[in-house]
Formats: sequence, C-alpha cells, structure tokens
Amino acid sequence: MKTSDITVIGSGIGGSLISALNKDKDLILFERDRNLGGCAGTFKRFGNYYNIGATTFVGYEKNHPIKKIFDNIGLIPDIKKSEVAIRTIQNKKIVDRIKDFDTFLENLEEVYPHKNNRLFWKTIKEIDEKFWNFKNIYFARHNLNSYLKTINSNFKLFKIFGFDLLKNADDYITQTLPNISKGYKAFIDSQLLITLQTTSKDISLISLALGLSYPFHDVFYVNNGMGSLFDGLLKDINVNIKEEILKIKKENNLYRIISNKDEYLSKKVILNSSIYNSASLFEDEKIKDYYNNFSFSDQSAFVIYLTLDSKEDFLHHYQIILDNKIPNSISSSFFISFSSKDDKKLSKNGYSITISTHTKASFWKNLSKEDYEKQKKITEDFIINHLLDNFGTIKKEDIINKFSATSKTFKRYINRYNCGGRAITLKNIFQTPSCNTPFKGLYNIGDTVFAGQGWPGIAIGVQVLNKELND
Ligand SMILES: Cc1cc2nc3c(=O)[nH]c(=O)nc-3n(C[C@H](O)[C@H](O)[C@H](O)COP(=O)(O)OP(=O)(O)OC[C@H]3O[C@@H](n4cnc5c(N)ncnc54)[C@H](O)[C@@H]3O)c2cc1C
Repeated sequence: MKTSDITVIGSGIGGSLISALNKDKDLILFERDRNLGGCAGTFKRFGNYYNIGATTFVGYEKNHPIKKIFDNIGLIPDIKKSEVAIRTIQNKKIVDRIKDFDTFLENLEEVYPHKNNRLFWKTIKEIDEKFWNFKNIYFARHNLNSYLKTINSNFKLFKIFGFDLLKNADDYITQTLPNISKGYKAFIDSQLLITLQTTSKDISLISLALGLSYPFHDVFYVNNGMGSLFDGLLKDINVNIKEEILKIKKENNLYRIISNKDEYLSKKVILNSSIYNSASLFEDEKIKDYYNNFSFSDQSAFVIYLTLDSKEDFLHHYQIILDNKIPNSISSSFFISFSSKDDKKLSKNGYSITISTHTKASFWKNLSKEDYEKQKKITEDFIINHLLDNFGTIKKEDIINKFSATSKTFKRYINRYNCGGRAITLKNIFQTPSCNTPFKGLYNIGDTVFAGQGWPGIAIGVQVLNKELND
C-alpha cells in the first residue's frame, strides 16, 4: 500500500498552487483528466489547442498572493501584458478597460457620461488598492485558533474600511451615479458577472470594487495556453493524471483513498474537487452530512471554441454586451478571448478563440439528448451571429472549427456541473465554506470555497490553507 503525508485531489488552480507550495513534502496529486488545470487548463481537439475556460491571468504583481506564491516556488511564468484588459462593445460603442485611469475615464465619459464618473471610479479603485495592500486576510473555521485568526483579520479589515465593508453595492451605485442609464448599469453588471458571478444587487461595496477593478491591474496573456502554467507549477510534484479518486474512507488517523487504479493511505487530504461533489466521495455519515449542507450553486458556463483563419489583428479580450438575454443563458453578454497571433502553440492553425457566457447547470442536465443538441445549437448560433455582427472583419467561412461546451461537458471532463463557485454575497458571507473542515486532516481548496473564483481569489484561499496545513 502506497502512503503519503499529503494527498491532493485535483490539479485545478487551488490543487496545483497548494501542491507547489508544499513540493518538499511527501505529497501526491491525482487528476482524473488527461489535462492539468481544471477550468484553467488547455486542451487539444481536431489538432488545435484551446483554453478550457480561464484566459486572463491577473495578480502577478507586487503585494498580490499569486506573485508571492510564484516567487516562493521560484517560477517565472511565460506571460505578456494585454495592453487593453477588455474591450467592451455595447450597441457598437466601445469602452476599453485599461490600466491608465484618466484615459479609461475619458473613454467612459464619451459613452456613459455622468457628472460623478470620476468620484465613482476613483472610490472603486482606492478600495481595491487598500484591499490588496491588506496583508492579514484570513478565513477559517472549526477550531478556536482558526476562529481567532479570522476574527482578528475581520477586525483589522473593519478598521480600514469601516461600514463600507457591508454597504450594499446597488445603494452605492444609485447614490453616486444617480439616474444611471440602463446601458451603463448593464456595462457594470456584465463585468461583475464575469468576476464575481453575480450582479450588484446583493453584494457589498468592497466586492463591487474588487469585481470592477481588475482591469486597473496588469492583465496577462499566458503564452502556449493557460494550461502551460500548470506544467511549471507541478514540475517537481508527484502527479498521477488520468487517475480518478472514487472513494475516501476515514480510518483512525489516516484516510484510505481508493482510485480507479489503486489504493493509498494518507495523513492529510486536500480536495480540489468542487465542494458540491465531495459528499459522494465519502461513506462516513458525518463527513457526508457536512458536505451535503452546502447548497448547490446552479451557476455554470456555456463555452464556444473556435479556430479562425484570419490575417486581422485582434486584442486578447472583448466583451459584447447585448440588450437582451442570450437564449438558454442568464446573461446578456459574452466574453471572447483570442490567442496571440505569435503564440506558436495556440495560433498554429489560426486564432484559437474561447467564448463564454453564464448559464444554469440544471437547464442542460435535464434536457433529453435531442433537445440538448438543439438548444446548444440555438445558443451557439445566437452568439456567433452577434460575434459576426460586431466584428465586421470576421467572415463566417473563416471559422475553421467550432464546437461548444455546457455544464454537462464540464462534468464529463473535470467532474463539476457548477462553474465559478458561489458568489459571496451579503446574505451568504458567513456560510462560505472554509479551507479547513471539522475533520482532522481533511481540507478543501478551489473556487467553491473561500475566497472565490479565478487566480486571485483562489490564491487568497491557498495562502490561508497553507497556514492551516503547516502551522
Ligand atoms: C468559462 C470560464 C472562464 C473563466 N475565465 C477566467 C479568467 O479569465 N481568469 C481567471 O482567473 N479565472 C477565470 N475563470 C475562473 C477559473 O477558471 C476557476 O475559478 C478556476 O480555474 C477553478 O479552479 P479550482 O481550483 O476550483 O479547480 P477546478 O478548475 O475545478 O479543477 C478541479 C480539478 O479536479 C479534478 N478532479 C475533480 N474530481 C476529481 C477526482 N475525484 N479525482 C481526481 N481529480 C478530480 C478535475 O478534473 C479538475 O481538473 C473562468 C471560469 C470559466 C468556467
């Protein structure tokens, strides 16, 4: 029987970062898929490479956990800056989300004029800066020491932000931008949906600030696909790919881990699988109950992958904001990422494009096979038509490959219907799952636990987990 001190289940951002930080330990990582990186991986189909979901790499800068973790493990990522973080297009009008504040504001003022624009965006930016300069973020539960650290962290946060911490985002918007136009509000909400998985209606001012400010940071394109970051992160780790963990049994002070290939014993287990799937891994009723208590977040993604034969130049990222909801989606916008023209791997046969929008997981899950294909085509055609309409330089016949993924596809490959975790709102902030559990040696990491989704959010959680694991 093979034994290890730490077993990590899943090579997503969370599983990979925590493994890399503990590379000197007796650690083994299991990944059920052939690709590393989960939602942030890169896959090959029809001879071309595509980013599965994540395409923007944010947080590789001073004071940010991502940079600290990469520096700590001595990894320099192969990345380049996207000069425009996102180009938003709404009714053919363009607003470029760029780092330079005054240039951004000038552009915004042309499209959504408002006398308080400067005040609104300056406040948003300042809150975001204060947050990332705050060093003591901590959120863990289930034992006295963790609670004390969490209270201490919240106390310090409160000292910095005061009641702004709990102020409702929508109230702040209506107070600061009175009579905001429908289009301007849609511009704000469609960006929040990408970063926070929700709109401004039930989040706090601080979440609003973090969600809207990411384009004020350096936004990077990852050469050779987002998935290539995981090759670097996991280069010194004992990784078993294409090995799925099916059951975990608690046996005194150890966990027996049963995969589709073998059995292992481990002192500590870190689950990077979605928290909504974790109950099914256990037979122990108490552990099952613990995981079953987290109500499923039905939010997921609809993603289209394209290869485009074009000589035109494109930015890395665009967001098209429409007046009405996309069919079978919960959003009226979609996000488009182009591979860099000079990316030898992704752009070998043309641009590799990942387009995504938000959808309900249960909608796709409950359709008959025939209806599933029909609805998928309706959503795909709608998005492609709007893409062609907004990019005069792209012709239908230039699209060489086209296929799409729903929550069912995500489940098939990376074992999760939900994508993007559950948005942290004012209502559920205290029910957010933490990285530690009531069970000794059992931990969670990833976007379904604190602090949230994407590279920056998960990295905050990884820092806390690393302390819980090693203190
Ligand atoms: C369409 C889309 C676009 C996005 N865009 C961005 C972006 O531009 N920038 C950004 O920062 N974030 C983005 N995100 C969010 C980001 O991709 C996710 O928050 C993040 O990748 C999730 O990481 P995770 O650690 O939760 O692991 P996951 O990605 O959920 O990976 C978990 C891994 O565990 C494996 N696994 C599960 N169960 C088992 C098992 N039983 N045995 C073995 N292995 C198992 C899975 O196969 C998977 O590889 C996007 C997400 C989506 C869906």
